[in-house]
Amino acid sequence: QTHFLSLPLQAKMSRPVQARRLEGTDKNIWVEITNLAATYSTVNLGQGFPDFPPPDFLKEAFMRALSEENPMLHQYTRAFGHLPLVKILAQFFGKLLGRDLDPMTNVLVTVGAYQALFCCFQAFVDEGDEVIIIEPFFDCYELMVKMAGGVPVFIPLRPKPPKDGKLMSSADWQLDPAELASKFSERTKALVLNSPNNPLGKVFSRAELDLIAALCVKHDILCISDEVYEWLVYDGKEHIRIASLQGMWDRTVTIGSAGKTFSATGWKVGWTLGPNRLLQPLRTTHQNSVYLCATLAQEVVARGFQRELELYGKPESYFVQLPKELQQKRDWLVQSLDAVGMKPIIPEGTYFLLADFSEFKSDFPDVADSDEPYDSRFAKWMVKNKGLAAMPLSIFYCEAHKNNYKHFIRFCFAKEEATLKAANDILQKWKQEKTSP
Ligand code: PMP
Repeated sequence: QTHFLSLPLQAKMSRPVQARRLEGTDKNIWVEITNLAATYSTVNLGQGFPDFPPPDFLKEAFMRALSEENPMLHQYTRAFGHLPLVKILAQFFGKLLGRDLDPMTNVLVTVGAYQALFCCFQAFVDEGDEVIIIEPFFDCYELMVKMAGGVPVFIPLRPKPPKDGKLMSSADWQLDPAELASKFSERTKALVLNSPNNPLGKVFSRAELDLIAALCVKHDILCISDEVYEWLVYDGKEHIRIASLQGMWDRTVTIGSAGKTFSATGWKVGWTLGPNRLLQPLRTTHQNSVYLCATLAQEVVARGFQRELELYGKPESYFVQLPKELQQKRDWLVQSLDAVGMKPIIPEGTYFLLADFSEFKSDFPDVADSDEPYDSRFAKWMVKNKGLAAMPLSIFYCEAHKNNYKHFIRFCFAKEEATLKAANDILQKWKQEKTSP
């Protein structure tokens, strides 16, 4: 008993607490810009979420699910996915992929696509394994690979200048086949594909996917295919699921998100689809981390998919209506940015676009007082001084390539007309002040 009493009263802990696996993964500019946007901005086109509500049928499904007074909807459900949801996902995507999916073994429900990605890297990547990532990329891929002890290997999409003074399109950004092939090695475990791509809006063509697939098969590696923007493709473009290509089902995990699919990013329902051999380690990671996802949200997403299955391809389908509405918003923002000289790159998909702010930089009283990239300093200045939030392109590049493009910011156009108009007003006013001293 007495030795306890002899402890000093203030026995502060002094040993290092952070596990080594977190080294170099702690910076997150999203937190910073989102905070700045909340403090200064009147118009937030920064983070990727709609400021309009999810469709009525989904909200009504939520209300109905609540009013049915099924007590089980408030309790734990099956760890790997609420039965009605895995069943409908298997049915829906089985149809799209042209194969029978088993709801119990080919589908895993996750806390948004984000947790699906986390499960993939934790489940597949060993210390020293290389993972090929196509730049520009959704930034968490790099951090999650590193946290798993893996080594990210980057391959850039390279822009080709557009013809005759036309605006650039995301399709002008392409992989160099020889350069891509050179990134594969003995140590490569997986490649991450994101089509449609955030932040560029590129929708990979069949030829591009064939090339990626051929290399994956040749080197016998996994493909982690992040398809959260699968319904957001424009101008009649087709979203091709790489898992449907020859030899790819067996080595691909396809990731989706109800947040993006039904404009309800706060519900955090996502999923992975793939062969049982790949999903087994994902289930293990899932059961050792979150174990299961919110039952009610899964139930409602299941009802949303039930409706979409019935209306598949019809004009009333949300998966037909949403891209139609977003294409109009895209065109509107493209026109608005082009009119003030902030040159947009026209995206073929997603609800993001990149714009070149070179013509506006003379207004920006820059002080390079840190190693923070120029576009990031510009974006922060713009929030504080113009009340307009956008994300710098450099956050979608690895450390070595952060300064490759200095003058691009990413806008999200999944916004109400009033929000886009307010952004336009800010840009117009800025342009006038700029040109008339
Ligand atoms: N992948 C990409 C490419 C994304 O842009 C996002 C969200 N910004 C996610 C995954 C995460 O999706 P969720 O909200 O379903 O977790």
